[in-house]
Amino acid sequence: GEGLPRPEQTRVMVVANQKGGVGKTTTTVNLAASLALHGARVLVIDLDPQGNASTALGIDHHAEVPSIYDVLVDSKPLSDVVQPVTDVEGLFCAPATIDLAGAEIELVSLVARESRLQRAIQAYEQPLDYILIDCPPSLGLLTVNALVAGAEVLIPIQCEYYALEGLGQLLRNVDLVRGHLNPNLHVSTILLTMYDGRTRLASQVADEVRSHFGGEVLRTSIPRSVRISEAPSYGQTVLTYDPGSSGALSYFEAAREIALRGVGVRYDVQHAHTGA
Ligand code: ADP
Ligand code: MG
Repeated sequence: GEGLPRPEQTRVMVVANQKGGVGKTTTTVNLAASLALHGARVLVIDLDPQGNASTALGIDHHAEVPSIYDVLVDSKPLSDVVQPVTDVEGLFCAPATIDLAGAEIELVSLVARESRLQRAIQAYEQPLDYILIDCPPSLGLLTVNALVAGAEVLIPIQCEYYALEGLGQLLRNVDLVRGHLNPNLHVSTILLTMYDGRTRLASQVADEVRSHFGGEVLRTSIPRSVRISEAPSYGQTVLTYDPGSSGALSYFEAAREIALRGVGVRYDVQHAHTGA
């Protein structure tokens, strides 16, 4: 890595948007790999029963593998389920298995049902610079656990029609969790994904998002890229699958922007695409 500043405390970032297919999982794994390649120690927590983040990181997550389900429902220590990602140093994953689909229901009757992930993270003793939590496309108890565990919400927004639709509901949930369970919670980062600069629609959506959210929107946006969508089927992030591709460079740059913002350094767009 190029030695970006590391945060003083672990930054826990919740990647959330209850819409499916907007790039949550893609953003989680590629940002995590980018931050690790920048020299950080990063844990991805897969909180989607589909286990797409685990797959994309090449992590075994068949039904018998110790997983985040065991952490949430059976109070297994996080350290018992975390696996290293083999081709990226400093990157780790707590996988999701299919039984996580039942956890939404099983959690309802458990004590401290909203704060089980938070407790597990607080008890985890390995030093980490970032934890990125990949949320399912819903606002149920799994996502609430993520919102209680993290301080920062990262919302990927796909540059498409109806991009902002449904976001009000997510933002209200963030407010509710902040008010009742986690006073530190805030939307820190908006990332425009699948951006096609050739279309007027994409730039209109980008303008709309920027005028709605302002400073939270990263200067870097992620282009639509076939290489990004191919990488998961090889159990790789685009950062190792095709490091020179536009998709890899843009996630690497977005990671740099996030790291610099975290220590209060103004991001200078002139340095874009020099780091990889
Ligand atoms: P979510 O986790 O929000 O459901 P995903 O990250 O799984 O969304 O992305 C949905 C689909 O879009 C996946 O097939 C993924 O490979 C593809 N995709 C995501 N980002 C890009 C991109 N920048 N360019 C091309 N395809 C993308
Ligand atoms: Mg997903």
